[in-house]
Amino acid sequence: MDFSLTREQQMLLESLRDMAKRERFMDLAAEIDETGSFPYQLIPKYADMGLLGMTLSEAYGGMGESSLTAILAIEELAKYSPMIAAPVFESNVGPVRVIDMFGTEQQKKAIIPGVCSGEYSVSVCMTEPEGGSDLTALNTTVEEKDGHYLLNGRKSFITGGGEASHYLVYTRFGEQKGYKGIGGVIVEKGMPGFTFGKQEEYMGLRGMPSCDLYFDDVRVPKENVVIDKGNFGNLMLTFDIERCGNAAMCLGIAAGAMEAAKTYARERTAFNRPICEFQDIQFKMTDMVMKLDAARLLVYRAACGAGQGLPSIYEASIAKCYANEMVKEVTEMAIQIFGGYGYSKAYPVERMFRDSRAWGVAGGTLQMLRITMASMIFGRRFDQRKKD
Ligand SMILES: Cc1cc2nc3c(=O)[nH]c(=O)nc-3n(C[C@H](O)[C@H](O)[C@H](O)COP(=O)(O)OP(=O)(O)OC[C@H]3O[C@@H](n4cnc5c(N)ncnc54)[C@H](O)[C@@H]3O)c2cc1C
Repeated sequence: MDFSLTREQQMLLESLRDMAKRERFMDLAAEIDETGSFPYQLIPKYADMGLLGMTLSEAYGGMGESSLTAILAIEELAKYSPMIAAPVFESNVGPVRVIDMFGTEQQKKAIIPGVCSGEYSVSVCMTEPEGGSDLTALNTTVEEKDGHYLLNGRKSFITGGGEASHYLVYTRFGEQKGYKGIGGVIVEKGMPGFTFGKQEEYMGLRGMPSCDLYFDDVRVPKENVVIDKGNFGNLMLTFDIERCGNAAMCLGIAAGAMEAAKTYARERTAFNRPICEFQDIQFKMTDMVMKLDAARLLVYRAACGAGQGLPSIYEASIAKCYANEMVKEVTEMAIQIFGGYGYSKAYPVERMFRDSRAWGVAGGTLQMLRITMASMIFGRRFDQRKKD
């Protein structure tokens, strides 16, 4: 087992650290949280650096990079703020990967070059107001009419909602119940009948566009079907790459909080000594480092297994579940090390604590991940649905 990064990966991380200093990412992160404005100004800079769509196929403007390289970049940028990492996340581990893997030639040509240049972004649209965990019960539907599809329904909590150019909508094809009736279609912003709700106000992740989507007889050309009904499994398999990205956000946030706490513990004094000389502070720091490192190994393992393809469902689920819990614990310990200042907006750990909370809900809850893992451990499926 080789745990070392390639020379190119090390150089990429160095260039991101330089950029963070040059662009004053620490200050930018605080500004994003205060104003709630997404850092769109970074997108052309990321495109110039080849960070957008680096995992996508070279034939369409990507670089064919491994998932691990993208995960490393997301982690590095999320040390400052998940919003600073978001464009790299969306363009490399987001739903555009479904289009890259399973889309038609026409879809790839129409969308992927725009994602790599930063002109386009794609949102994933699964959750509905009635529920997200019970995905196979979704109600959004397409019906065939005069050679195209008519889409009707509503989606909730859609990241990028209102701002993304394209939406990969999980929908039921006709009347067929359960997962067998579900596929995915691309809906473009501006299509008649496609509208947005008001922007969500979240506890953390300030600046992240998110809203409900409404589809009212939206005319979707048949060419926009990415995954036809009966291939729901492909939608979910590809989603495991996004889960690794979610976990990488947790690694970044936790590493940012750990670094801030380490610096503070060296500088802050109590009883006429730096607080890093107290054993409880040392043990908190060692627990933070151990948990972060363990999560890192799980996330990197899942991403390495993915190569340029798909991670194992089991490895991605373990990695996401552990990293989602780890980031809450690590940011919580960081707040304690900062004492009263940890609870104050004057220091970044308060923001990191708020930003840590979403990941164990977004991209599949901790409970649903555990259900997936349990079915793999026992080698059988546990149907959660109440029988009529
Ligand atoms: C910041 C953020 C970003 C998001 N981005 C997107 C996005 O881009 N696209 C998108 O489609 N969705 C997105 N979501 C929605 C997210 O995927 C859902 O919130 C999530 O899947 C849970 O669905 P729900 O909120 O309807 O909860 P529910 O499904 O109603 O579940 C409520 C609670 O019950 C638990 N529960 C449900 N069933 C079981 C069971 N069988 N056993 C044990 N516990 C169970 C759940 O784990 C949860 O704790 C986002 C959410 C957040 C917070």
